[in-house]
Amino acid sequence: MDGRCDVFYLRAMTQAEQYDVVVVGSGGGALTGALLAARAGLRTVVVEKTEYIGGTSAYSGGACWLPGTDVQQRAGLPDSTDAARTYLNAVLSDPDQDKLEAFVGHAPALVAELEAMGIDFVPVPFAEYFDAPGRVPNGRSIQVSAVDRADLPAEVAPLVRPPVELDRVGQGGRSSLTGGQALIARLAAAYVEAGGEIRTNLPVTGYVTDDAGRVVGAAAMTPEGPVELRAERGVLVAAGGFERNPEMRAAHGVPGDAAWTMAPAGTNTGEPIEAAIAIGAAADFGGVGWFCPGLEQPSGAGSFTLGFRSGLMVDSTGRRYANESLPYDRFGREMAKAPERIPSWYIFDDREGGQLPAIAIPQGDADEHLAAGTWVKADTIAELAEATGLPVDALVEQVERFNSHAEQGVDPDFGRGQDEYDTFFAVGTGPNKALTPCDKAPFYAARFVLSDLGTKGGLVTDAVGRVLREDGSTLPGLYASSNSTASMFGGVYPAPGAPLGSAMVFASLAVRDLIG
Ligand SMILES: Cc1cc2nc3c(=O)[nH]c(=O)nc-3n(C[C@H](O)[C@H](O)[C@H](O)COP(=O)(O)OP(=O)(O)OC[C@H]3O[C@@H](n4cnc5c(N)ncnc54)[C@H](O)[C@@H]3O)c2cc1C
Repeated sequence: MDGRCDVFYLRAMTQAEQYDVVVVGSGGGALTGALLAARAGLRTVVVEKTEYIGGTSAYSGGACWLPGTDVQQRAGLPDSTDAARTYLNAVLSDPDQDKLEAFVGHAPALVAELEAMGIDFVPVPFAEYFDAPGRVPNGRSIQVSAVDRADLPAEVAPLVRPPVELDRVGQGGRSSLTGGQALIARLAAAYVEAGGEIRTNLPVTGYVTDDAGRVVGAAAMTPEGPVELRAERGVLVAAGGFERNPEMRAAHGVPGDAAWTMAPAGTNTGEPIEAAIAIGAAADFGGVGWFCPGLEQPSGAGSFTLGFRSGLMVDSTGRRYANESLPYDRFGREMAKAPERIPSWYIFDDREGGQLPAIAIPQGDADEHLAAGTWVKADTIAELAEATGLPVDALVEQVERFNSHAEQGVDPDFGRGQDEYDTFFAVGTGPNKALTPCDKAPFYAARFVLSDLGTKGGLVTDAVGRVLREDGSTLPGLYASSNSTASMFGGVYPAPGAPLGSAMVFASLAVRDLIG
């Protein structure tokens, strides 16, 4: 069979199904876009590669950095669109002003629209990540309120991805859904109630274009063969990044490892990004990722860790290299700066009864960590150093130095405890809440790798979510948001909820544009 016959045969075997809008992926951005399209009366399908909807968004805390909305107003927070604009201009490096304006300008209208549909939001206190003009004390992030699985439509209830600690061991979800699960569940419920369709276990493999190069659908693969999902108005790609694709990570300089990412197994391997590039989309991989220190699990996975309450992080030389209370993305970027920092060891004492003095999602069982060697326990710091292979003298000296600084309440090396974020999770009772001596035997060391909450490089879009070509023209019919795009925040994670907030805003702007 020659090439022409192959193509003919494939076309003949491919079934085409007709929609107005095809949404690729089912995270927070995808479902926001899908919901708005369905509510506008468009025949909409959400196409999800795995058996569950929600991806990493379902694992998340569901915090959305959507500034200047009625929610912050109702709560009396000192937030405003102006303050958010000031903050972003202060913390971002040369931001695209059109996108910045689109983001801060549209966030209030989006939240008002979702609340009018019954998806209500509440503030979630969480300090912002930079001491900069426009910062709101205790943050301005918001999240949707909890929902019971029993109150969801029958076609949505079993589909919501379980929380990470259950999903990783193959267990189902709980009956009460909070955080990211609540966000996914409530968006999906409103979407199917508006007539939207969800198709799971259906990986998108490429796009369908017409003779003029316009994207008129998506190609997907079923066990029975390929299908075409035709999209009269457009295709919205919001299918995560390429966290689970080692080759793409290497090609685009994403530090860490596919095994350490927080993206669920079997999800984001970047085909929707690569397929768009293959039909002429421009891409920018400069933002690299949303990083975090990852507690290494006996399985080899990483666990997103934040809010260290006591203890200190050292590299393979036994020395500290950063303020452990930094916001997690900023700490992750410090880890990525030198090879001797991956893995690192977190040294802590017994003041929390042998549990890691931090929020690790998930922590895992302490005894299993000790049995696997991802944690080590010893009666003295010197013995701990020997058991981990760290240089004994250097670690002993480092812990003594750290303890003397903790007693004085100052960290002349890295300034731990000076910023609002440093003390947000801290519980110390000494002169510096974030600086607690490590002096209560026995001692522990937990191995840390560099994890991520997602990659953030991908398709280049304009201020309304249209995918652009290299020459700056639009690729007609193709829209994108979420971690499938080059983030408007570049290499900065400005505040809690920035990934979801930006994904939702640009998905909704994209749908506005394709509605026309
Ligand atoms: C524990 C944790 C807490 C977090 N907390 C927050 C928070 O509070 N606020 C916040 O903003 N961010 C948070 N994050 C980060 C945030 O969750 C992610 O960066 C964000 O949700 C990514 O959204 P996404 O839509 O790009 O990808 P995802 O949510 O991962 O969704 C992508 C979906 O697309 C599907 N897909 C991929 N390829 C295809 C294909 N070829 N065909 C069809 N479907 C495909 C995947 O299977 C997946 O379901 C957190 C992350 C973690 C792990």
